[in-house]
Amino acid sequence: MATVDDKPLTIHGGCLCESVRYTIAFPPDHDFTKACSTCQCSQCRKQTGSLIFRVQNIPLSALTWDADSTLRRYRASEGRARGFCSACGSFLFWQDESYDSIGMTVGCFDKDALRGAHGRALTYAERHLWCDAEIEGVTDHLPGDRYKFDDEDGEVVLLSPK
Ligand SMILES: [Zn+2]
Ligand SMILES: [Zn+2]
Repeated sequence: MATVDDKPLTIHGGCLCESVRYTIAFPPDHDFTKACSTCQCSQCRKQTGSLIFRVQNIPLSALTWDADSTLRRYRASEGRARGFCSACGSFLFWQDESYDSIGMTVGCFDKDALRGAHGRALTYAERHLWCDAEIEGVTDHLPGDRYKFDDEDGEVVLLSPK
């Protein structure tokens, strides 16, 4: 894995059954913390089966699919794709298809990428969406800005720190 200081330059990831594999080559000026976010909306919860969903947002140009024969897209909202493996069910990305960026689910990064300082750089987030659905004492502990809903569409309401 190529590296500069405590930030990774190139990482690999993929689904649980390894039918889908990808490489991410981060741009030199990539702001890892700014690009990382969590979501607690009901769609992300339903798809992941997890209370908090987390992505690292990257330019599409940074992503190469090394294997994608079982990669499928599901759209719960028009123009917003959720990429998953049709063989093992891993949730790989969330993408607003009108943008030239894509949010890669950090749990699908290879375990080597998630170790030590690189793991922190790749997954530390201060931008938390849909905190209106926080579960008190369980998912309301996240550091940084907690948005009531989305931080882009319509009203932006920052919740006060806990
Ligand atoms: Zn798979
Ligand atoms: Zn969501």
